[in-house]
Amino acid sequence: METIVKGMEGVEQAAEIIKNGGLVAFPTETVYGLGGNALDPEASRKIYAAKGRPSDNPLIVHVSSISEVHPLVSVLPEAAEKLMEAFWPGPLTIILPKSEIVPYETTGGLETVAIRCPENKVTLSFIKTSGLPIAGPSANTSGKPSPTEATHVLHDLNGKIDMILDDGPVGIGVESTIVDMSGTVPTLLRPGAITVEDLSETLGRKVEIDPAIVAGGVNEGVRPKAPGMKYRHYAPNAKMALVSTKLLKAKDYEVSEEERLQADRQVSDFINELVEKDEAAGLRTGIICCEETKELYRKVRDNASDIKVIGHRDQPLSMTHELFRVLREFDDDNVDRIYAESYSDRGVGFALMNRMRKAAGMTEFLADE
Ligand code: AMP
Ligand code: MG
Repeated sequence: METIVKGMEGVEQAAEIIKNGGLVAFPTETVYGLGGNALDPEASRKIYAAKGRPSDNPLIVHVSSISEVHPLVSVLPEAAEKLMEAFWPGPLTIILPKSEIVPYETTGGLETVAIRCPENKVTLSFIKTSGLPIAGPSANTSGKPSPTEATHVLHDLNGKIDMILDDGPVGIGVESTIVDMSGTVPTLLRPGAITVEDLSETLGRKVEIDPAIVAGGVNEGVRPKAPGMKYRHYAPNAKMALVSTKLLKAKDYEVSEEERLQADRQVSDFINELVEKDEAAGLRTGIICCEETKELYRKVRDNASDIKVIGHRDQPLSMTHELFRVLREFDDDNVDRIYAESYSDRGVGFALMNRMRKAAGMTEFLADE
């Protein structure tokens, strides 16, 4: 059983644990991280073991200021520094060529290192006090939804780590944006609260998007697209599917009021029908929808199905905040099937939909086919 300490009071003890090679879960503005000394191969090995994470999946190194980046990288391009100045502390992770002091255990064998300065007072103080860069992936069991509260960390990692620094529920709820600045072309590797448009604007040049994260999911006429288990990530125990319409996709969710109403009706009818079938087969189902559509869904049997609202659909950032929590609630309720509405990929919507697609293993149905 690890120690859980709230707020600043835990900082000294947490720093001491890190210096002695132990593991501390820490709050950030995105999700809770699982921290160890980034320069200690043994600490990184312990992180992988606690998470059950494949050791070729690299960790993010957390610093408390830009000056702490210099010893960790072999070059620091001006453009990368520009991003740090613009967005740190904040939800942006920057990939750079690593220096010799960063062990391959931390970078998953790569020549590059991922670095970020999180915006959380307790954690910034914890990093500074430890005097070390802190390697920290999300503090969840590998493949599970990321932890947005200390209780989620405890649920996944109880007994496997030394301490949890608890600073209440996180602010953003979706992992940091990752941008690769180690090559000649800035490339977005993971969408987050800082959008590709934000990055392009600051750099004064186009930031490319890694093909692996481009909105995949549905090819016309294929329903559902290959479930793609290897893409399943951030995943609840239940089988999850997204539901959209051909029209919404074709118009990139920019539709008239009338088209919107029709699409809402089609999506909700489609989901209600699936739920009814599942419930008849004795399965427990869950629905993820938004404030604007919640009235369109019905409970089949009390207690058997559940409808969870994750926010207003024109506010994707606050929806990301609810998503992981809701997925965990469905797990706690032993739900077998989850059906979720799809939303626009615009702006922060890209981060939300990226996580939803991964949670659904890329399964998306079109209600108007
Ligand atoms: P997590 O903190 O659990 O979201 O995991 C860290 C994320 O950062 C993973 O998706 C890694 O693949 C990514 N990452 C860390 N280091 C690198 C790197 N050097 N190059 C590319 N991706 C990285
Ligand atoms: Mg993670």
